[in-house]
Amino acid sequence: MASFLPWNRQKSLQDLIFNGRESRGREVEMNSEIILEERLIKRSQQKKRTSPLNYKERVFVLTKSKLTYYEVRSEKKTKKGSVDITKVKCVEIVKNGLDTVPCQNKYAFQVVYDNNTLYVFAPSVESRSQWVKLLKEGIKNNNLISAKYHTQFWADGAYQCCRQTDKLAPGCEEYNLFGDITRKPLPPTPDEIRSRPPPPSPPKEELDEKGENKGEIVIAMFDFHSTESQDLSLVSGEEYVILAKKDVHWWKARDKYGNEGYIPSNYVTEKTLDNLDQYVWYSKTMNRSKAEQLLRNEDKEGGFIVRDSSQAGLYTVSLYTKYGGEGSSSIRHYHIKETGFPKQYYLAEKHVFNTIPEMIEYHKHNAAGLVTRLRYPVCSKAKSAPTTAGFSYDKWEINPSELTFMKELGSGVFGVVRLGKWRAQYKVAIKAIREGAMSEEDFIEEAKIMMKLTHPKLVQLYGVCTQQRPIYIVTEFMEQGCLLNYLRQKSGSFSTDFLLSMCHDVCEGMKYLEANSFIHRDLAARNCLVNEGVVKVSDFGMTRYVLDNQYTSSCGAKFPVKWSPPEVFNYSKFSSKSDVWSFGVLMWEVFTEGKMPFESYTNAEVVSMVTRGERLYRPKQATKRIYTVMMECWHERPETRPTFCDLLLAIAQILEEDF
Ligand code: ADP
Repeated sequence: MASFLPWNRQKSLQDLIFNGRESRGREVEMNSEIILEERLIKRSQQKKRTSPLNYKERVFVLTKSKLTYYEVRSEKKTKKGSVDITKVKCVEIVKNGLDTVPCQNKYAFQVVYDNNTLYVFAPSVESRSQWVKLLKEGIKNNNLISAKYHTQFWADGAYQCCRQTDKLAPGCEEYNLFGDITRKPLPPTPDEIRSRPPPPSPPKEELDEKGENKGEIVIAMFDFHSTESQDLSLVSGEEYVILAKKDVHWWKARDKYGNEGYIPSNYVTEKTLDNLDQYVWYSKTMNRSKAEQLLRNEDKEGGFIVRDSSQAGLYTVSLYTKYGGEGSSSIRHYHIKETGFPKQYYLAEKHVFNTIPEMIEYHKHNAAGLVTRLRYPVCSKAKSAPTTAGFSYDKWEINPSELTFMKELGSGVFGVVRLGKWRAQYKVAIKAIREGAMSEEDFIEEAKIMMKLTHPKLVQLYGVCTQQRPIYIVTEFMEQGCLLNYLRQKSGSFSTDFLLSMCHDVCEGMKYLEANSFIHRDLAARNCLVNEGVVKVSDFGMTRYVLDNQYTSSCGAKFPVKWSPPEVFNYSKFSSKSDVWSFGVLMWEVFTEGKMPFESYTNAEVVSMVTRGERLYRPKQATKRIYTVMMECWHERPETRPTFCDLLLAIAQILEEDF
């Protein structure tokens, strides 16, 4: 039985530093004052892959600035570790602890900081609740608070909640710093009463002790035809009850007939009045240029699209009229305006509504200040069913007898790629890996992770056939092939805004990879594919499995030097910021419609030119603003380059304002 120190060392919060109105000298003194001290059990952090998992009793001490733990043996206290409170991103209880905890303390909580998670076990619900509450108080002003977190343990090489196998994978559930998921909140302290934090948002779902979901209702946005008995088919527009969300990509659901099974989570959306995803007229990620293109193609009077505005949190209605003056058509973009409290919405001043759908409904029947009525919702092709993370829940091995082979699409480092069908129905691309071209074992291991990377601007990996040779990699089929050829073949036919919107697509895919700490390592137009004018990023991370030295060594003839920043061609130091450099070069390829960067120079010459500070010239089609974005990607020091998140914002703004 774990003995622990009494609670007498705990101070009332008000007495302590969290009220921050002390003089400097007092602050230093108070920074080290003990807020809470108790004997708890700590799980080893396994910072190295090979270090064993163990559980050790430690005395934990919380001060304003540190959470420190000590080994205490015959009155001797040895410091074993310490976490800087300002670095903590998340403190929360761990669900499902009771049956999975192999130590006597059963009440687990987690402290996430830098790239580590500390799992600590308290002897009682009350003790854990106290630690979580006081730690949360301590971190509430930190700059880096996680948006999402993992509700369960990292164990056996995966998070038990979502089964992601990357230790740095972003969380699978929204993190609410002020929500107490034990649902037994402690009474507020006087300090809290004085400066009330923002009220916690209501929990989105009711979770029982096993992390299972009791009754969230969703609406299917697309049809889904289940291919395995464990899955459940979806009919667009119908309601389903969500039963569990243990895997981020595949949720367990029940239909109205009582059938249960797994469904792809990206095919459904929450059923709430103000959730726009359920409406055909809403295209979340559509930019201004694509909206205009779509409305023109449809050429319907009153054709309209509601889309996210380039200003975060706001929406725009793009509306097409054939009679825009001087006998020609025109497109207007109206920002949906919001009033203060209570929030209401309007397009034309006099007509205010509680929700956006109500407002749209009204303007379907009344122009009321708009150039025409909202007569005809235009729906993007991207609204056709998205890809799923694999064909079925928990399935990455594809039976090769279920594949049929059709025409050859091309060939690359790994071998020939063919168009094919899976179960005679779904078009797929099948890459047959040439013997000796790939370190197959490593790839097969990684493929399980790569399948979980799912985004509308990434070419989806559906699965692998590994039980025979050659092994096959089965991916989403992209009708128009590789971006580089597409640019070259259609050269001369692109408008500047369409070129920029292709860069926007790639940037969206890359932002997703960056957020998942996944480095592409070979981003270039040749490694992107096109389908119906949408560009998607392909072959991410694949260079790690190439066996050809000429391709992998930075002095090899096939190494992509012209797409590489100095830290890569000098020290092979890859990062999301080296991907940013390559993205700048990809933008250059797009705006030159497929020219070879540094065309007349050898790799060795490019290395010395780039090292001297020389950069690619401004392509004719790129405006000064667009060229500035490229140049930002080519800062010599990686830390001064923008992130993909920054780049996406910059590109969206140019698309919105300049075209
Ligand atoms: P590797 O990874 O072996 O170098 P690539 O991925 O570059 O091979 O593929 C070679 C060519 O095959 C591409 O340039 C493209 O034309 C075609 N291709 C590859 N994947 C697809 C796909 N998913 N859809 C359509 N065409 C594809």
